[in-house]
Amino acid sequence: MFLLFGFKTTTKELPGRPASCQYCHAFAHHHLEERSTRLTVFFIPVFTTSRSYRIACSNCGRTSSISARQKNTLVRR
Ligand SMILES: [Zn+2]
Repeated sequence: MFLLFGFKTTTKELPGRPASCQYCHAFAHHHLEERSTRLTVFFIPVFTTSRSYRIACSNCGRTSSISARQKNTLVRR
């Protein structure tokens, strides 16, 4: 029996929000990005193995990794 495994990383753009940047301290819009790695069998995604979030400042362009908990705090209003 032949099985073909692989990993696939997909990025998804999430609605960002204005926040004060920790680098340039400007109150600017921040882009939020979800990066998820999925285990694939015959190129079909089976389940997500890891999920990480990145936030990018639109003023200085610096990105920082945030945890899922921090991301939930940002998305929730
Ligand atoms: Zn900034």
